[in-house]
Amino acid sequence: MSGYNEPDLHWIENESFRDHLSTVTQDGKRKWIFPFKPKGKWFNKRKFVAIFFYAVFFITPFIYIHGRPLLLFNFPEGKFILFGFAFWPQDFIIFGLMMLAFILFIVIFTNAFGRIFCGWICPQTIFMEMLFRRVDYIVLGNAQTQKLLSKAPWKAEKIRKYTLRYTIYFALSFIIANTFLSYIIGIEELKKIVTEPVSMHIGGLISILIFTLIFFSVYVFLREQVCTNICPYGRLQGVLLDKNSIVVAYDYQRGEPRGKFKKGDQGDVGDCIDCHQCVNVCPTGIDIRNGTQLECINCTACIDACNYIMEKVNRPKGLIRYDSENNISNKIPFSFTTKLKAYSTVLVFLIIAITALLITRKNVDGTLMRTSGMTYQEQGSDSISNLYNIKLINKTLKNDTLQVRLENLPGTVRLVGNPLIEIKPEQQVAATFFIILPKSVIKERKLKIKVGLYNKRGNVNQLSSTFLGPIKRTGN
Ligand code: SF4
Ligand code: SF4
Repeated sequence: MSGYNEPDLHWIENESFRDHLSTVTQDGKRKWIFPFKPKGKWFNKRKFVAIFFYAVFFITPFIYIHGRPLLLFNFPEGKFILFGFAFWPQDFIIFGLMMLAFILFIVIFTNAFGRIFCGWICPQTIFMEMLFRRVDYIVLGNAQTQKLLSKAPWKAEKIRKYTLRYTIYFALSFIIANTFLSYIIGIEELKKIVTEPVSMHIGGLISILIFTLIFFSVYVFLREQVCTNICPYGRLQGVLLDKNSIVVAYDYQRGEPRGKFKKGDQGDVGDCIDCHQCVNVCPTGIDIRNGTQLECINCTACIDACNYIMEKVNRPKGLIRYDSENNISNKIPFSFTTKLKAYSTVLVFLIIAITALLITRKNVDGTLMRTSGMTYQEQGSDSISNLYNIKLINKTLKNDTLQVRLENLPGTVRLVGNPLIEIKPEQQVAATFFIILPKSVIKERKLKIKVGLYNKRGNVNQLSSTFLGPIKRTGN
């Protein structure tokens, strides 16, 4: 069982924190969190990561590789582009395996390094803590001022500050919503929505407005609740972490028993001076001294706060630090456990399978089906035909012209209409054709047929289906 399901919290005398949520008052109302502004070494590092994230997030939609966007997640059309490679519903096996590999990577990473993703890379945390929270400090003032202002009556100053705050929040949400939408429909489509007459893009404009309102609501109302109550990844921490995981942790061996700071001899008191600075800076309102909790997003604010205090009271830094429960309690350093080795092996196999599928992926893919509700047709006295529907997708950026040939049986293919299938770049096309077989080769009621697709350079793919013949009568 995970060490954090039943943590060893022997050093805590008052365990009342177990009976309530940090963001809910005794009478069940929302308790708004006004964390102190963090500062320190770890916060500076996170600032650099956030700047890098903003650059990647806002620039990526403009990056194209060989005429395709770097990333595109066009759910309405079922088209996805990852690093310039287009994936269609026909590639769902590769796409599914990629998702599986990504999830497994997160599991391995979380088991080894805890919820580090949440504090450092998660867009929700970066936007909340490094953007919208900054707006609060600039417009409303420090944590204490924000708290007082929230309780103050709606007078001129509060109205002015909150109006400015919400205006900035809305503008930022609008920018984020536009960027977010460009990952779905592509930057070119977004440009059209922005530059062409409103009447031509009513749907697009409604989408932008809906996304803007969603982001606005998330950062005005939900805030830390996304991480503590909504995000499924956060909910999984109890099963993903173990005592070997590196997390933001309080060194209770060093800190306890906690006691107020006194100059001179500390007697039996530990290094924690119970100043509550680690709690004051926490954006989820928890006390890390109560052990690892699901609400902790590993933002490192408490590490910086405690290091600052340790420096002031002339004690070694690192009372709160990145460490594992095993190292703090038993001085067992991090090791690559059997569980991690097993997960990593599966991940390697998945990556090999994805690579193989990507290498063997066809430029033209599709589905071939006998027209439903139809049986065979007699063609003169010596032949039988079946009618087929073919749906093809051109995954390349070039026009192609395809010929359909029967591969495994002597017979002919007769397309309805044009004898060749014209297919535009990144488009799907449907066609109908007959396959005509001489009766002499129809030895069973159902035959397996293979159809080859050829362009002027040769075979591009092969599809299979069945051919229905008459029931062979025996006797008489
Ligand atoms: S900031 Fe450090 S010293 Fe202060 S209460 Fe937290 S753990 Fe103790
Ligand atoms: S406990 Fe520390 S690391 Fe965890 S969310 Fe609070 S401040 Fe951030």
